[in-house]
Amino acid sequence: MAVNFGKIVVGIYVEIKRSDGRIHQAMVTSLNEDNESVTVEWIENGDTKGKEIDLECIFSLNPDVAPEEEISLSPVTPPPPTPSSVKVTKIPKNRRTIAPGRSEIPSRDNRVISTRGRPAQQQQPESAPPPPVQQPSQPTQSQTQSQLTQQQQNAARRKSNCVKEVEKLQEKRERRRIQQQELREKRAQEIDTTVPNYEILQMIRDFRASLDYRPLTTTDLIEEHRICVCVRKRPLNKKELTVRDLDVITIPSKDVVMVHEPKQKVDLTRFLENQTFRFDYAFDDSTTNEMVYRFTARPLVETIFDRGMATCFAYGQTGSGKTHTMGGDFSGKNQDCSKGIYALAARDVFLMLKKPNYKKLDLQVYATFFEIYSGKVFDLLNRKAKLRVLEDGKQQVQVVGLQEREVKCTEDVLKLIEMGNSCRTSGQTSANAHSSRSHAVFQIILRRKGKMHGKFSLIDLAGNERGADTSSADRQTRLEGAEINKSLLALKECIRALGRNKPHTPFRASKLTQVLRDSFIGENSRTCMIATISPGMASCENTLNTLRYANRVKELTVDPNAVTEGVRPNVNALNQLDIMDEEWELGNSPQRDDLKLLCEQNEEEVSPQLFTFHEAVSHLVEMEEQVLEDHRAVFQESIRWLEDEKVLLEMTEEVDYDVDSYSSQLEQILDQKIDILIELRDKVRSFRSTLQEEEQASKQINPKRPRAL
Ligand code: ADP
Ligand code: MG
Repeated sequence: MAVNFGKIVVGIYVEIKRSDGRIHQAMVTSLNEDNESVTVEWIENGDTKGKEIDLECIFSLNPDVAPEEEISLSPVTPPPPTPSSVKVTKIPKNRRTIAPGRSEIPSRDNRVISTRGRPAQQQQPESAPPPPVQQPSQPTQSQTQSQLTQQQQNAARRKSNCVKEVEKLQEKRERRRIQQQELREKRAQEIDTTVPNYEILQMIRDFRASLDYRPLTTTDLIEEHRICVCVRKRPLNKKELTVRDLDVITIPSKDVVMVHEPKQKVDLTRFLENQTFRFDYAFDDSTTNEMVYRFTARPLVETIFDRGMATCFAYGQTGSGKTHTMGGDFSGKNQDCSKGIYALAARDVFLMLKKPNYKKLDLQVYATFFEIYSGKVFDLLNRKAKLRVLEDGKQQVQVVGLQEREVKCTEDVLKLIEMGNSCRTSGQTSANAHSSRSHAVFQIILRRKGKMHGKFSLIDLAGNERGADTSSADRQTRLEGAEINKSLLALKECIRALGRNKPHTPFRASKLTQVLRDSFIGENSRTCMIATISPGMASCENTLNTLRYANRVKELTVDPNAVTEGVRPNVNALNQLDIMDEEWELGNSPQRDDLKLLCEQNEEEVSPQLFTFHEAVSHLVEMEEQVLEDHRAVFQESIRWLEDEKVLLEMTEEVDYDVDSYSSQLEQILDQKIDILIELRDKVRSFRSTLQEEEQASKQINPKRPRAL
């Protein structure tokens, strides 16, 4: 005989009892005929768990869903509840089911799960109240009260224990129905139906109500990571609150982020697609900078004292909280940079310096602060002087002329940050409009007798949404977008290479990775990425892109302890590559080779057209640098010519000047001038045709690319 599952269907919620005695709701995900059980799933601490439970246990805890005949055996039993009065919350049928008895937790290798949330209760047909409880023989009006009581008492005496039990269950059910009705009414009052997307809001609320929250606390263990990737959600801001945007992000536990993405079915009914991501840490919107710092950058301070290199990046869309996290709160008039990670790291550097172990090293602390904008470096501690990046014969990348200021205490550092920040945004209409297009790099450098001991680079990256600007009609915007796209891709590859101890990384594909190159190599390099996300529904797509990028930064990372001798970074190979690449020449540049490598590594995001465009842009940037450099040289040379010509002309004032000498010298100068000027003119010409090429290439880009960085 087929198993009678009563009113249980896949997708309803039932109460379950755990081995520790806890009773809570769980969703039925499959019915198992062979062993008369059902599989249920629930979320606990952000993880989806599952269990197989005997049908009988389910029925005893959930009489609502038990088969009808079991109750209707009794002559006094009222009709069972109509199916509509059973509180069922269905989820779409195509939801995946899980193997009985196996709990499903997003693991390191498979860090994303996507489930469809159950629709809001409002979308359910409102449950009709069950018919009033019927007595077996309804007393007539003429019967007296005492007769009635007598009859009832007699009837009660006749009732079997089983019937009493059923009545109790029914009372319970009735009480629960009333409670739920009240709850629904209360919720309906709470929820302002004028809010755009209020059904979505209700679905998210229902989903959250089923979660068991366990946020990160100061007592949580701070783990040692070579690469740490975490996510920080900011609160809804004033603007979002004004337009009543919804908060679609939930951080139920210390390392899980959930995105509730509203979707629509073909029949226009709306549902939530819940995507779960796992990171090293997840910080919810109530987390302070100090707390974020504690788990991210603070563990890296020690690295630089131990002769290592550390980097910490804030990555995310514009307005998601990068600057708030790194630089401190700059909203309003009172800029408080003492609460940013830059300052907190500096504070701890000075504290560490006092420790006996490090005190004896006699280290000096220096700071630099610069900005990379459209592939060019500007010194924020020196009135935004434009700096050149060169790779010297010793394979060291140098930012020529970058100011390194000695700092003696945290206050010194705060002054530099303030100075740099005001320099960064001076002449800008909006701090965010500018910072969305540039990377800001703040470095704390430890030196011992002038020699580098360790370096901590803290980077407030350009807004990642700008990477999609590559098909803009405006060249400036296009070039900025291309550089941002390229640098964020290169950054991802460099961090991944660090995690995998891969010897060659495409660091030359962007200025950002080029200047940070020394931080991505070596055994004692550590990095941390803080992906900042906006909570609003309007930012959902950008948020998902940010989370996917952050996810990829860490995937495939190998445990450094598990690395065998054979695959340790091959220092010799590295040096050889560098020696080979020492000379940069137009047309055959290692920068372009790296770009090629980068695009190959990111085929999904970089279409062949985008690669061609990136190539054109790289060529353009190289040529621009060359043209400017040559022009400067010609300019200097012209001054010299003028002086020489002046001397020549003065010579002709003499009565008996040497005509031969004069004419030959003049000819020499003119030949030189012509050669040099023709050379410069040719370069400018070819530069101009490259500008055209870039324009053409930009028109070929599929506007959908790049989808995600
Ligand atoms: P980004 O640098 O990513 O463009 P900002 O750091 O400038 O973004 O943040 C945008 C706005 O949001 C600012 O007004 C900032 O003060 C505010 N904000 C960002 N993160 C938080 C947070 N965790 N708590 C409170 N306000 C925040
Ligand atoms: Mg910013």
